[in-house]
Amino acid sequence: MDRRGFLPSRRSQNPQPDGEHNGVVTSVLPKFRYHPDPLATGSVEPSSTECTVCGQSRGYIYTGPVYAIEEHDSEICPWCIADGSAANRLGAEFTDVGWGVPDDVPASACEEIAHRTPGSSSWQQDHWLYHCADGCAFLGAVGRRDLDDYPDALDVLLHETDQFGWSAEQSQRYIDSLDANGQPTAYLFRCLHCGTHLVFSDFT
Ligand SMILES: [Zn+2]
Ligand SMILES: [Zn+2]
Repeated sequence: MDRRGFLPSRRSQNPQPDGEHNGVVTSVLPKFRYHPDPLATGSVEPSSTECTVCGQSRGYIYTGPVYAIEEHDSEICPWCIADGSAANRLGAEFTDVGWGVPDDVPASACEEIAHRTPGSSSWQQDHWLYHCADGCAFLGAVGRRDLDDYPDALDVLLHETDQFGWSAEQSQRYIDSLDANGQPTAYLFRCLHCGTHLVFSDFT
């Protein structure tokens, strides 16, 4: 998959209703509370491929991970993720919400993130981020320069490596090496309630 970073301020707009994209007829994408622009993050791509769940070709296909007990060779459209039918049919989850979930986040939010939200295949070690007793909206992969616009997120990253005993200099060098399209990459989220930006990086 093409790993694309993006600047949220310059991110692509969803296409017009029933438009055309590279010759593929497209419909307006469903709304995802926790992944507001899956086209910009690369988790959904224009495609004439038929969805194995609903049997329709609606102009977009999901490119992210499918976590299921059995291996599925499935092409899934974003609509079947949004209404839960893909998760039901395949017994699958699309994001990993298994760890780091604060106690005050309701089970309904975790359920929506796991079963009705597109994940991202660019994550090495995927997990969702949470704030104000809810899941955050995933905005996409970012590099060092993108983070200039998000001092709150940059501050989080500066302390991400504290637990490993890194010096401020080491942390800074690591952050300076972040690349939206390479390694390591950072993943930007925004709190749906207070607007705070959160981030984690592929720390390997
Ligand atoms: Zn479908
Ligand atoms: Zn918040």
